[in-house]
Amino acid sequence: MSRYFPLARGYFIASPFGPRDGGFHAGTDFGWLGGSGGLPIYACQSGTVLYAGAASGYGGPDPRGWVVIDSTDAEGGGCAEYGHLVREVSVGDHVQAGQRIAHINPDSGSNGGVPPHCHLSIMPRGYDPATKIDPLLWLGQAAYPAEQPTGGTVPNFPIIGGDSAQAITPELMDQMGAEFWCRYLCTFPASNMDFKRSTPGEIDRIVAGGKKVVHNWETDGRPDDGFATGVSAAQDADAECNDRHTPGAPVIFSFADPDSSEPDIPKVLQAIDGAVSVIGWDRVGLYGRFDVIKAMFDGNHCKYGWQTYGQSYGQWDPRAQLRQCSNALTDHGVGHDYDEAWADDYGQWPRPNAAPATPTANPVLGGLVSDLTPDEQHEVLFALRDIRMQLCGSATPGEYPGFGQLGVVNGDGTPGAPRTVVDALGSLLNVPNPYSKQLEPAGQALGFLEQRTTGHADYWGKQVMAALASNPAVSPDVKAAVLAQLASLSITLTPKAV
Ligand SMILES: [Zn+2]
Repeated sequence: MSRYFPLARGYFIASPFGPRDGGFHAGTDFGWLGGSGGLPIYACQSGTVLYAGAASGYGGPDPRGWVVIDSTDAEGGGCAEYGHLVREVSVGDHVQAGQRIAHINPDSGSNGGVPPHCHLSIMPRGYDPATKIDPLLWLGQAAYPAEQPTGGTVPNFPIIGGDSAQAITPELMDQMGAEFWCRYLCTFPASNMDFKRSTPGEIDRIVAGGKKVVHNWETDGRPDDGFATGVSAAQDADAECNDRHTPGAPVIFSFADPDSSEPDIPKVLQAIDGAVSVIGWDRVGLYGRFDVIKAMFDGNHCKYGWQTYGQSYGQWDPRAQLRQCSNALTDHGVGHDYDEAWADDYGQWPRPNAAPATPTANPVLGGLVSDLTPDEQHEVLFALRDIRMQLCGSATPGEYPGFGQLGVVNGDGTPGAPRTVVDALGSLLNVPNPYSKQLEPAGQALGFLEQRTTGHADYWGKQVMAALASNPAVSPDVKAAVLAQLASLSITLTPKAV
């Protein structure tokens, strides 16, 4: 028996189970920052579709509405009810846990009048609306759906990088663990965005510091002239490459506004074709959301794809060499986005040569974890980012706060061990959880950390917290509390000289 969260990793809880507006919200609402319309919904548990289609409160007409899935005891039991969606399964269908079953209805007018989101209710024995329980407790240590790329081959771990509108130095990149950075060439002249441009000196310093740069070119996202837009942009970009002492470097063009709900994909591809006509197929890349990047690769319009998570609803095109995985981060005073490269050649300068690179320790973790494999280093970095976002929220003040604890769970609903390191830290730091009715006793959290002292997970857990403590985005109070608790656990943190 396995359970999955109904949305891919990255969701947030739009409204928890509990009292709401003088009534009671008998479910959990899942959403996605930046908009949830169209987001795929996955079956939390295997079972048979009991109801599907229009339903009071969840919208209609069919196929809009809800899906209810009934599970046998062997499948985990009970009924899961998903609302405010457009169904992709029918009554009587049998579905597997983690299988896509619907997408979030993007039209408020036909989903009960609420903003697009996925409502999940759980009835633990069978279909009986009077018995609904907190879905987050029921989900427990559920897995995330859609974690695997849909095809192709990718490295075991990505190369870490970033992009920013402000200048970057190789020293700052080292401190952030970044191997490459995406920086602007010219920006569209009608704007006042010229401050985003890189300078020849900046690019020289990045290269001299042993780092890589990826040139990106921004337009206003409206390639109205199609092919001609691309010709003009590529001519300018080629001159800018020469100006930056990077002659012949690839350039990734932003012809599609990632915030647009309906990018004009044919026009975008015409613009790419125009750019290719000037500087060649293997020097051109495209930046954009999943459907834009997919269309480009499907038509083989250019060599490089830089896909952003924005408006991509958890889907990644495995052919995209670059991924923009999150944004609005701040490290060492630099506002930036977090990027990953999933190929040896992702359009970087200096260009990759034939000789295989010698693996080196990730600079941000440096000597602290130099005996970790690159895979493990990536895991630590990934966990660190996750923990930071969960504890501190967005790096942009006021955008959204940190997540509360998700609570604790045993199969019978009694309190158990905290689910994640973040849960444990939340308990240790006395961070109240608006979604949970209880705060785990510190002893349980300590017990969880002590569980980490067996097996290799222990080492991972300790390094994560060491990295947390050294991260400038975390307040001194939080660091002090973490270190005090770690000290009480007799876990020795002895960072080596970097
Ligand atoms: Zn709801």
